Amino acid sequence: MPNSATSVELKFCPLFINGRAVVSSSPKDVQYNPATGEAVAEIPRTTAEEISAAVEAANQAFPLWSKTPVLQRCRVLFKYRELLEANAGELIALITEENGKTIEEARGSFQRGIESIEFSCGAPTLMMGETVDQVGTGVDGWSTRNPVGVCVGITPFNFPVMVPLWMFPMAIACGNTFVLKPSDKVPRTAVRLVELAYEAGLPAGVLNLVHGAKSTVDALLADPRVKAVSFVGSSAIARYIYQTAANNGKRVQALGGAKNHSVVLPDAEMKSTVAAIMGSGFGCAGERCLATSVVVAVGEVADPLVKELVRAADNLNVGAGCEARSQMGPVISEEAKKRILTYIELGEKEGVTLARDGRKDAAAKGSGYFVGPTILDRVNPNSRVAKEEIFGPVLSVIRVKDLKEALDVISKSEYGNAASVFTRSGGAAREFTQNVGAGMVGINVGVPAPVAFFSFTGWKNSFFGDLHALGKDAVHFYTEQRVVTCRWPE
Ligand code: NAD
Repeated sequence: MPNSATSVELKFCPLFINGRAVVSSSPKDVQYNPATGEAVAEIPRTTAEEISAAVEAANQAFPLWSKTPVLQRCRVLFKYRELLEANAGELIALITEENGKTIEEARGSFQRGIESIEFSCGAPTLMMGETVDQVGTGVDGWSTRNPVGVCVGITPFNFPVMVPLWMFPMAIACGNTFVLKPSDKVPRTAVRLVELAYEAGLPAGVLNLVHGAKSTVDALLADPRVKAVSFVGSSAIARYIYQTAANNGKRVQALGGAKNHSVVLPDAEMKSTVAAIMGSGFGCAGERCLATSVVVAVGEVADPLVKELVRAADNLNVGAGCEARSQMGPVISEEAKKRILTYIELGEKEGVTLARDGRKDAAAKGSGYFVGPTILDRVNPNSRVAKEEIFGPVLSVIRVKDLKEALDVISKSEYGNAASVFTRSGGAAREFTQNVGAGMVGINVGVPAPVAFFSFTGWKNSFFGDLHALGKDAVHFYTEQRVVTCRWPE
């Protein structure tokens, strides 16, 4: 059990309905600080009436907002970007407090969120349709992109600013209205995001905020006024969201979990490869959907690579994200910590060589939810630790004889989010890129996160839907096309 509530007054977390902060009358859950295990806030679950009111506010705001000139819509986003920058310090500290990641990691993810807004400000050109004159004699044809209506965003705990900003800026730039349901573990950052959007001049009802978990999500998925659903989270829930929303006639994009591989060839440059894998595997305490979880060591590189990774992990400062010296913070919850420790025990039962045991680190014995960097060597590619998403600071090393065998290991994964190769050979990198079963590929890059104008292209069980988040796919997801065929009398 997390530490029980102390005498410290718990922070308050409102809903946002029709442009106003609302005190929910629903039961509350307690939010804990992952670095200390202390209770910090009370989070409302949101009543059915409040959820319905949020959807209705979005529904009422849609006719006017969708007819507001696109440049005017984008002007609010330009102002919003400025306001976020002006409040960056507060937001970054809030990400660290709620999620646990280090200040530097929070700053990096905040910057990625800003880039999504900047991309969304291109809506006037991104929404342009196509025209062909004289599709028949005296007949012209053209297409336009039109907002779809009320859109819903359901987001995970691991990027409290970045993932919501993947969604609502583009949705509202395209003329939609929005209901955001952030992770129940990091909801107060979302409150600040919504407050600042209204400060930037968003009309009432264009962006609404509700809290809670399954029951809130189910109410949103069942509501006929909701036309589109964007989801980011674990694969089992992504699949459920996809199936339920689609059954209810909504368009849906559902981004799921991952098990990402980094393949290291014998010719890789050791120092930069180790730095990249350390950043990818242990950055954000391994709680990134693009984190390297499996290192596939090819041939003779395995021994020196494991040695260097262990050395680097020994030197990693693990501690509260708000402390300047910390290089890795806690995981999100006591439950997450237990799950990760269970996987390390499972690895031992499955016969791995425990090259580094993060359970023994001093931080892992304190009251926060810390697990030190852990490296499992000689992992069997068919074992559960090799195949299942652990979502914590645990690297599994699989040893293979050549690139073909490495590609074979990756092809058997049920996930297909990201994969990286580390090599100096252009030919090997090309072979990897053209044959790897993953949607986002890194060449000597540990976290191959596409910048906002490319789409976030997970494959297999890492994505359910047709149109991905970000990039042109996002513009297509948040608009529907109208094709006009026109003849004027002579
Ligand atoms: P999660 O699936 O537990 O929760 C995601 C959202 O769904 C939250 O808002 C949560 O409140 C809600 N939810 C929880 N249980 C639900 C239920 N039974 N029915 C309906 N909704 C429910 O995910 P998380 O733990 O917050 O985030 C970590 C997961 O997200 C990891 O699997 C990670 O790989 C994945 N992720 C994927 C991407 C991507 O781009 N593919 C990005 C970030 C995180």
